Amino acid sequence: MSRPIIVWFRKDLRLADHPALWYAAKKKVPLIPLFILDERDIGEAQRVWLHHSLDSFTKEIPLILRKGDPVKILGEIQNETDAEIYTHRCYESHSIQIEKQLHWVTTFNGNHLIDPWEVSPKTSSYFKVFTPFWNSCLKILDPPKPLPVPKFEVYPKKIKSDKLSDWKLLPQHPNWAKGIESYWEFGEKAAHTRLKKFVKAALDTYGTLRDMAAEDGTSQLSPYLHFGQLSPRQIWHSCHASSLSEPYIRQLGWREFSYHLLYHYPDLPHTPFKKQFTKFEWNDSADFFDKWSRGMTGYPIVDAGMRQLWETGWMHNRVRMIVASFLTKDLLVPWQKGAEWFWNTLVDADLANNSAGWQWVAGCGADAAPYFRIFNPVLQGEKFDPEGDYVRRWVPELTHLDKKVIQKPWTVGGVDYPEPIVDHKQARDEALRRYQLVKPN
Ligand code: FAD
Repeated sequence: MSRPIIVWFRKDLRLADHPALWYAAKKKVPLIPLFILDERDIGEAQRVWLHHSLDSFTKEIPLILRKGDPVKILGEIQNETDAEIYTHRCYESHSIQIEKQLHWVTTFNGNHLIDPWEVSPKTSSYFKVFTPFWNSCLKILDPPKPLPVPKFEVYPKKIKSDKLSDWKLLPQHPNWAKGIESYWEFGEKAAHTRLKKFVKAALDTYGTLRDMAAEDGTSQLSPYLHFGQLSPRQIWHSCHASSLSEPYIRQLGWREFSYHLLYHYPDLPHTPFKKQFTKFEWNDSADFFDKWSRGMTGYPIVDAGMRQLWETGWMHNRVRMIVASFLTKDLLVPWQKGAEWFWNTLVDADLANNSAGWQWVAGCGADAAPYFRIFNPVLQGEKFDPEGDYVRRWVPELTHLDKKVIQKPWTVGGVDYPEPIVDHKQARDEALRRYQLVKPN
């Protein structure tokens, strides 16, 4: 009898355009669909996302659920069934280590437009600057049409499976996830609904509106992309009919770039890409960090972003840049602390994108914003939330303020809202002074 195949689902909780599932099904042998919860891989808000996603996915496919070390669990199931393994490649260093230890494993690229090693510059082993990276990608990119959902036969013998509820992925006391649960729809179908809505209503204006915090101008597909409820190929093909899709597709390019960096520089989550920053003198004030994380800094655009994050598990990209700049440059708290907070509060928390995003804003990343470009939170608010609607939505204490003052409420009296925790001008001067000490000559 032919050997069954374990289709090991990882960050690819979908049935359509799933090369591992598709090619396993083509072999016409019984399949063992499996998901393994590896708790090292997941932040707190993502546990909520994962719970609801698996709840939806197990209604579509008889998924075996197991928790623990993937190498051990896959080994056990192989002993029981003599199965081969089909899966999609992941590029975090611990995932690469896991793949290296497995037997009879066949891997596919299911979650990216390219593998991180497919492009390289002439003079070094990998790209450190986005534009030449993306230009090289565009020369070779020709993503095949997305695959349909295959028909397949399930392995007939019983294999031990956990109950999803036993994993206790949802918070209990207190249940801080209510905002996340009411904001999002979970699962593969919901991902496609959102993609269709975005392509119809916002793709053509993405290039002009993507930075405006109060607009519904971006796709909000990031958590679906992270968990693979959509593939980037599906997105690519849904968008390509529009002549205005370039700015959006380029953002998918930033996602590819982050993975390219993480693959070639696995220390990205911890160690500054620009080495001089290892000597940077941080403040690391617990009080500042606490006020930042609770959205109580006294700067409305920063506080609105941090409260949106807490409530929904997501934050607008422009605002992510503003809050990250504020934490690392105005408050001088190390970027790793901010990245860790994002890791536990974002439903789209992604080791590559998050680490690259934080390093980029802090000025120590590859192709980073120059350190001396320090965002002024008032001017950023006035530029990217000119009517003040984003602030009004997330900081109800300020709802009654006029757009002329809403980004600087300390200029009017009688508002029940914190005073700024630092003076931006002084904070900026101090950040620049410290930067001078580590700046290469
Ligand atoms: P859209 O603007 O609609 O973009 C479409 C997709 O492109 C996104 O879903 C995302 O997958 C990708 N993308 C967009 N911008 C970027 C970018 N700058 N870098 C990499 N990929 C991008 N993104 C994450 O997915 N997970 C994270 O943990 C994360 N942490 C970040 C931390 C900081 C400090 C910063 C500045 C950015 C971070 N980003 C992260 C990137 C970006 O903010 C989000 O991908 C984006 O806001 C998601 O919203 P969207 O789906 O509406 O994006």
